[in-house]
Parts: sequence; structure tokens; C-alpha cells
Amino acid sequence: MIISVLVEIKFKQKEKTFDYIVPSVMIDKIEIGKRVLVPFGKQKLEGFIIEIKEKSDYELREIISIIDEEPILNKELLNLGKMIAKENLCNLISVYQSMLPKAYKASIKTNIKPKVVTFISLTDKTLSKNYLSKTKSVKQKELITDLLNKNKELKNKYESYVVRSLLSKNIIKEEKEEVYRIYDKNECEELRKLNPYQTEALNKIKNSEKDVILLNGITGSGKTEIYMHLINEVIQNNKQAILLVPEISLTPQIISRFKNHFSNKIAILHSGLSNAERYDEYRKILKGEVSIVIGARSAVFAPFKNIGIIIIDEEHSTTYKQDHNPKYNAIDVAIKRCKYHNAKVILGSATPSIESYARSKKGYYELVELGKRANEAKLPKVKIIDMKEEIKCGNSIFSRELLENINDRLEKKEQIMLLLNKRGYSSYLMCSNCGEVLKCPNCDITLTYHKTSGMNRCHYCGYAQNKVDKCPFCKQGELKSFGIGTERVEEEIKKIFPNSRILRMDIDTTSKKGSHEKIINLFMSHKADILIGTQMISKGLDFPLVTLVGVINADTILNLPDFRSAEKTFQLISQTSGRAGRSNLEGKVIIQTFNPDNYSINYAKNHDYIGFYNEEIKIRKNLKYPPYFFIALLKISGKEFNISLNESKKISDYAKKNKSEDMIVLGPSVSNVSRINNIYYFQIIIKFRNKEKIQELLNNLIIITENNSKINLDIDINPISL
Ligand code: ADP
Ligand code: ZN
Repeated sequence: MIISVLVEIKFKQKEKTFDYIVPSVMIDKIEIGKRVLVPFGKQKLEGFIIEIKEKSDYELREIISIIDEEPILNKELLNLGKMIAKENLCNLISVYQSMLPKAYKASIKTNIKPKVVTFISLTDKTLSKNYLSKTKSVKQKELITDLLNKNKELKNKYESYVVRSLLSKNIIKEEKEEVYRIYDKNECEELRKLNPYQTEALNKIKNSEKDVILLNGITGSGKTEIYMHLINEVIQNNKQAILLVPEISLTPQIISRFKNHFSNKIAILHSGLSNAERYDEYRKILKGEVSIVIGARSAVFAPFKNIGIIIIDEEHSTTYKQDHNPKYNAIDVAIKRCKYHNAKVILGSATPSIESYARSKKGYYELVELGKRANEAKLPKVKIIDMKEEIKCGNSIFSRELLENINDRLEKKEQIMLLLNKRGYSSYLMCSNCGEVLKCPNCDITLTYHKTSGMNRCHYCGYAQNKVDKCPFCKQGELKSFGIGTERVEEEIKKIFPNSRILRMDIDTTSKKGSHEKIINLFMSHKADILIGTQMISKGLDFPLVTLVGVINADTILNLPDFRSAEKTFQLISQTSGRAGRSNLEGKVIIQTFNPDNYSINYAKNHDYIGFYNEEIKIRKNLKYPPYFFIALLKISGKEFNISLNESKKISDYAKKNKSEDMIVLGPSVSNVSRINNIYYFQIIIKFRNKEKIQELLNNLIIITENNSKINLDIDINPISL
């Protein structure tokens, strides 16, 4: 028997496999989708069995061993991987690897194994009762009494000499058992009764003949409750469900709602788990012990065999697109998987992406709308503050109205959330004498001052230096900090409201495992009055006591040179506003901006998604952006500025010469951040309509640039940002 193996090395030919002979003793165990260990030159490599054949033209070596008892990738996933690799022009092996948890990757020597514990139990009840009446040892008596009540107990609960003695007398026996690192109680709360609007939406979803449904429900309209009803039905039909959520920061609340009802039928997959915990959760799925998976992007690959539904919550979220290779989009993957399983995809959002909404308007997706908040709570009033006016009065961080409102909520013992999309203390440091700005030595980006650690940091390459006061350029002036970050907001709020209790949630305060949950739980139980955070706090969280939300600077995203900047601003403001007034207490939102007339801010203020959509879609049409055109983003990078620029020009010329009629080639231009870690970046944008034709063009470009060691060409089909 001969097998083709896809080894753990990336080759230029993206699906290159190697043939090996299977020694006769192993033939029985060979199955497609299992991993094997093979000799490769002088190394030993792991690889996936892709094909079983009878003949090969080459002289072959034998495989060393078979790694898996069961295939870890089934036929559906193996095929899916091929489609993803083709569409995203990336290596097949990298797709297969991103389908699996880290513990399965050979290159990472985690050495994670199932956790096995030893239990003890009584060999015979009558025998042990006899013994109990005779023995004088108090400790032995205790142990036997425990086991009479409980059947089995963990061995390490008792002192080893006691256990040993009873084992030797054959009073007790021991047994090994696999336990999971995340263990759920088997409790089950009833599902809530849906209100009439939710019921109508649910029925429309169930009766739809379309494969994809866009559930556009305002924040707090009860989408999550609908998800639970849908999933309930799916698992009653013995099928399985996947729920994708954008990021770990909002999973604690959703997970606890699901666990209250579905208890131990759920596996959780997200980056907040340790590798070992992930491994266990994955095994629960492989062994068929759970029928629901909740997780971030990569959970879309959960190895279920009979999927009934895939739900993508907050479908507009950028986290569903992987920003490194393979640059797949979980929504596309979900649609492919559901086609295979004849299942439905539900995309849920209060602010759907322009692309998704356009598709629903065209009739490709079913559009289901929910316009009322579930518990009759009203949408909050939104006030826009023109910071140009505030600056005139000397207020650069907080407007008068925001401070008055914070004060009012503190007095009423209600809660406040303040959002600023910039971590650290300040945005940049500038010399008050020569005007030079402190930049990262490796990147074309300003350094951010972090007061807590006393460091100036680069948010791109991680470079850090101790804080300096004197200007390193003119050696005379003082460096002053400009712009504000979350650390600064926290410090200023503390000064103004010294008695308030403040929490901060951003990357810097949540690097430790479990710190998200901790902050969320503290705020939920009203151990703090004010939660300050980056966009991490904008989505999904449900705090009934929050009646004021302040957006410190709505312009951070608006000013990005990206065609989606208005859309992202609208989403951020709407989502953040959605955190206010979710219970019977009325909510208010204050948005501080230097662009008070901007359309995205004003539509968000009026909770008018459709108004925003109608305005934005016109712009997209005029400028030939998605959804009217797809985009391929080509990034060319290299160590030498001139060589990289020249090669970029050559690539652009080739694309212009060989493009099909419906393509538009733009560039090369310098990337937003032109230098990162001493590598220069240029970009070319190709707008296209036909997927086959762009693949052909790009594949040719890959072949042409492949042997050029001076530059690297990176391709992103339908990038999430430019
Ligand atoms: P969304 O996911 O659309 O933002 P949620 O599902 O979180 O909305 O619901 C918002 C709030 O309304 C939650 O506190 C939830 O418990 C409550 N809620 C939702 N549906 C119902 C219902 N049918 N009956 C009572 N309360 C509900
Ligand atoms: Zn840097």
C-alpha cells in the first residue's frame, strides 16, 4: 500500500504531497485524514494522509508510524481546506493546521495529553461494612464511610498510606479515568418564552428557503434568545450547532447564558483557554460528547459530522477574517460548510456589514428584522458634542456635559462606561522646543507612552524604551505628551472624581488568563462605578445598571484612510450606545467629536441603520468599492526601499497588462504604516468581479515573484482593512 502525505513544510506548489510505502503491519490502520510520521531527507516530519494508492512511479521510503487512532480531519474538512487554499491563494497545509487546535501541531512541542485521574471505590459493600466494624484506624473508617455514601472518590483526597493499606487488603480498588479540564454541572434552566416579535422572527427564519439568513435586530432586541431557541431545535433533531462570537471579551456573558440552559452539551473554543483546555474541548467534539460549540473564528472548523446550524453573532465584526495566512473569512467558511450539511447560516447583527445587508436586499440572503428591545427598554438618547467648542473653553479630554452626567450617575449610584479606542497614556510625544515627534526606531509610527510601566512602546513591533524627558533630537526641549489613551482617561477621571471606583479594560489590563471575566464580573456586581475601555467594551456586554456611555473621541477610526472608516465608525458608535439603558433605567450616550456633521456619526445618533446604509451604498457604488467590486490587496515588502518600490511597480505593470476588462489596478502606493520592523511596505489594490479570473492573474504573479528573494508578495482577497 502507498499513501500520499501532505507534510508540515510549506512548498511553492501549494498542495505538494509525497508518496510513502506503508509497512504491512500498519496497513489495517491507514485512513485518510490521520496523521503519520515520515522520514524526510534527514528529518522526521508529521503529515496528513491525503490519498491511498496502489502504485507510484518513484522509489519510496516507508512511513515511520501512524499518529492518530482516529482521523482528525474528515473528508468534509479535507475538501473544505482545498477550497479555502484555492480561493485565498495559500498553502493547503497552513489551512489544515488552522483547522486544528495548537496541541495537534507537530511544530509546537506542547506535549499535551488527556488528563487522567485515579478514582478509588469499594470492591464489595458487605465486605467493607464488616471491615468497618473491626478496624481501629480512624482514617480508614473515614475513607470507607465516604465510599459507602459516594461510590467513588479521587484517590489523592486521602493519605497514601491509608489507601495503600486498604488496597492491599482488597477492600478498595482503583480505576483510571479521563477527566476534562473544563467541567460543567449538569443543570438545565428552561428557555425563556419569546415575545411576539421574537416569535415572528424565529418563524420567519425557520420557514425561509434561503441558505443564509441575516437577522438584523437592534441592540437588546433579544437575538441571543432566538439563537438559543434555534439551537434547541437543532439538537432535538440530533444535529449539531456552532455559534461564533467575535472575541473572548464578550464570551463570559453569552457562555453563562448558554450553559445555564444547555449545561454540559457545550464545548468552548477561544483564545482565552490554555492549550490543554482547548485540547480537551476539542476532544469532547471529536468523541461526539457535545452537540454545541461556542467559539471565536476558528470554531467554524469544529469537526461535527451532522451540522444543523451555524450562527455568527455580530457578523459585521472584523475578527471573523483572519489577518494572517490563511486569510479565510469565517462567514464564507460557514456558508460552505452549511451547503455541505444542508444546514442554515444565521448572521446576526444590529449593524450588519454593508456587504451582508446589500446581499439581503438583493435577495441572496433572507432578511429578518427585529426593531424593538426585548424588555421594552427604550433606545438611549444620543448627544453629539462638538469638541472644537470645548477646546475653546479649555476642555480637551472631557466636555462639560459629559462630566455633569458622570457626576449625576455617580450620585444616583448608576454605572458609566467610557470608550476610547486607544490604549496607553498618550498617543505621541513631541518636543516643545524643536517640534520633533518621538518615533519607533524600527517603524514609521509614533511611540505611545505607557505610564503604568513607565515605558514608551511601539504598538506595531513591540519595541519599548524607558521614558525620556529631554528631547533626543535637539537635546534642549522637554518632551510633552499629546493625544490621550485609556490610561490617561483613567488618571483624569480619578482626579476629578476621587471617590469613584474605576475599572479599565484594554489589552494591557487583560493579558492574564481570566482577567476579562474578572473585570466583567466586578463591574456586573457593581463593585465599580466606571468602566473605561477600548473597543473591547463596545460589543455584546449587558450591564443593567449602565445608564451613561461616553465615547471620548469618535474620530479615531473616522480618520483612518480606509473606505470602511465610516462604516466602522457607525458600527462602533451604535454598538457602544447599545450598552446604555438595557434595563428599565433610561440610557444616555454622549459622543465627543471634532466632526459633528459627519453622516456616520449622525445616523448612529438617530439609531438609523437604513439611513446610513442608503447613504453609504451610494458612495461605494460611485467609488467602485465592495459590494460592487471585490478587492484584492497585494502587499509588497522588502528591506530596501528602492528595490521594493521598483518591484512593486513591475508587479503593478504586469497586472495592468494582463488584467481582464472588469479589473481595476491601483498603485503601487506606500502602505498606511510604510515601515514596520525595518521592512518597507507598498500596496497595490485590484478591484475585480470575477473570482476565477483574479485567481489566474494572482497565481501568475505569485509564480513570477516567487524566486525574487529581495521582496515578499502577500495577497489578501477581500481584506477587512486597507
Ligand atoms: P441582543 O443579543 O439582541 O443584544 P439579548 O438577547 O442580549 O439581545 O437580550 C437583551 C436583554 O433582554 C437581555 O437582558 C435578555 O435577558 C432580555 N430578553 C431577551 N429576550 C427576552 C424574553 N423573551 N423575555 C424576557 N427577557 C428577554
Ligand atoms: Zn516599532
